[in-house]
Amino acid sequence: MSQLFLRTLREDPVDAEVASHKLLVRAGYIRRAAPGIYTWLPLGLSVLRKVEQVIREEMAAIGAQEVHFPALLPREPYEATNRWTEYGEGLFRLQDRKGADYLLAPTHEEMFTLLVKDLYSSYKDLPLSLYQIQNKYRDEARPRAGLLRGREFIMKDSYSFDVDDAGLDASYAAHRSAYLKIFERLGLDVVPVAATAGAMGGSRSEEFLFPTEIGEDTFVRSAAGYAANVEAVTTVVPADIDFTGAPAAEVLDTPDTPTIETLVNASNQIAPRAEADGGPWTAADTLKNVVLAVTLPTGERQLVVIGLPGDRGVDLKRVEANIGSFLPMAGEIGLEQAGEEDLKKQPLIVKGYLGPGLSLDAPLLGSEGTTKLLYLVDPRVVSGTSWITGANEAGKHVFGLVAGRDFTWDGVIECTEVRAGDPAPDGSGPLETARGIEMGHIFQLGRKYAAALDLKVLDQNGKQVTVTMGSYGVGVTRAVAALAEANHDAKGLTWPRAVAPADVHVVAVGKGEDIFAAAEQLSVGLEAAGLDVIYDDRFKVSPGVKFGDAELLGVPTILAVGRGLVDGVVEIKDRRTGEAENVAVDKAVDYVVNAVRNS
Ligand code: ATP
Ligand code: MG
Repeated sequence: MSQLFLRTLREDPVDAEVASHKLLVRAGYIRRAAPGIYTWLPLGLSVLRKVEQVIREEMAAIGAQEVHFPALLPREPYEATNRWTEYGEGLFRLQDRKGADYLLAPTHEEMFTLLVKDLYSSYKDLPLSLYQIQNKYRDEARPRAGLLRGREFIMKDSYSFDVDDAGLDASYAAHRSAYLKIFERLGLDVVPVAATAGAMGGSRSEEFLFPTEIGEDTFVRSAAGYAANVEAVTTVVPADIDFTGAPAAEVLDTPDTPTIETLVNASNQIAPRAEADGGPWTAADTLKNVVLAVTLPTGERQLVVIGLPGDRGVDLKRVEANIGSFLPMAGEIGLEQAGEEDLKKQPLIVKGYLGPGLSLDAPLLGSEGTTKLLYLVDPRVVSGTSWITGANEAGKHVFGLVAGRDFTWDGVIECTEVRAGDPAPDGSGPLETARGIEMGHIFQLGRKYAAALDLKVLDQNGKQVTVTMGSYGVGVTRAVAALAEANHDAKGLTWPRAVAPADVHVVAVGKGEDIFAAAEQLSVGLEAAGLDVIYDDRFKVSPGVKFGDAELLGVPTILAVGRGLVDGVVEIKDRRTGEAENVAVDKAVDYVVNAVRNS
């Protein structure tokens, strides 16, 4: 410790909100270089390397081979897949001295695809899985929580290449099980959840979430094993209703009812519903129409109207994940409630009284003189459902407006917030919600990248076929932070053995030269036994400070050499349980070796 490049801090860094960020900085594992960009100090690097080692071993176990790409890449391959544009503001773009465009890679699908295209040409070369452990760059809108969301971070990214779909399924399954092993070895109890493919494109996709309140991902699960990111949850769709004989829609005066609550109250006064027909109106009987503004990757702004039952809120993340197929181009979009400025350009939108078109002949949302607005509805708005909704005139609502008869829509979108108690789409019972940190993400990309970059091989029949790919990422630096979140107490970090920066922290307590001599000797003995040792040999530092540092650093075993030495004993303490035992000096090395081996 007298030589180690380390300064522990008493105070939490001012910008730190979460425990891992505070403790990793205070314990001298990392230092902030810029927002979302960190420097790794010796202890932090040691933990990082151990996490990487676990990942390397599990990648090797499924036959994936390690390569290493540059982080600084030319524009052209990303242009070919359109991600130069699609990535939007998240991409760090730069130019060389000749004015040529470059980027700092946010992920490497393009480069891996081109590398395989360069060197391979036959089905006999496949299947192939390649990976790297490498810095990624994303100009995150909200770099927060230290390593959890960095702008420079380390990812293990792998890519699989197969000649057919069955091959891709096998590669995907291999990665999935490798990921479960990685997180199990790290002691991170992750939940694999169904995910949407997002900007990646492709079909099947799962995320590995580490459940914690501070997580930015919301997911749901049922007791019977269904689990999905909320973005990927699908609504249980009710059956269509036969509307022959349904009464005609009727426009009624509903003054001062711009909100769902005021509307429901007024409806129950103006047009009360009979007990036999379902009793008093509730928010669920109203169709709420929300105007959203989409900023396309090109910067263009487009309005979209979403119709949903009035008892539900819009979940913008769900809209964002699912709106892609309705937009004129793929890529990263901005999404928010439309503002005053947006609405001014749409004079037919009457705030608070917006409804879908009143008849199929004259749909408001495609009226002359205004830009055609995309109108999307929640899956619960099935044909035959009847609604109270805005009449597109101030102070008026329409009652009994029947979907499929009185109005239509451009598409159906998963857009509402998912609630605890909602039914799981697979019929496995009610959902409960939880928060988590995304630790890993696996995708079946299919042929999107291979087609864009023309990666083909000859198949068994001598025919050129486009290769099918998977891509698989683990957040390595994020894993270090999640491990710190999962393993700390009020005094500091409490690393699990698999990733601890050392096996044992030897503390010489007191001033006697005999104490330092014995501590030194024990440290040498422990090292000779193959353990990683931190030895606190600082002479003029008080026992309180030394113990405080040992607890802050979080090495699993703390061996204190102090007063007991006159009786021939040292104290060996388990950092996690706090259990301490006096052990004879000459048995101490064996004792610690056993503790390391048996945990
Ligand atoms: P998020 O939704 O958290 O922004 P993502 O879905 O954009 O993540 P992927 O592109 O799937 O991330 O990247 C694979 C893995 O890389 C993620 O599962 C996560 O563990 C890690 N990762 C992504 N972005 C960051 C970041 N800004 N800082 C640290 N790790 C990250
Ligand atoms: Mg992801």
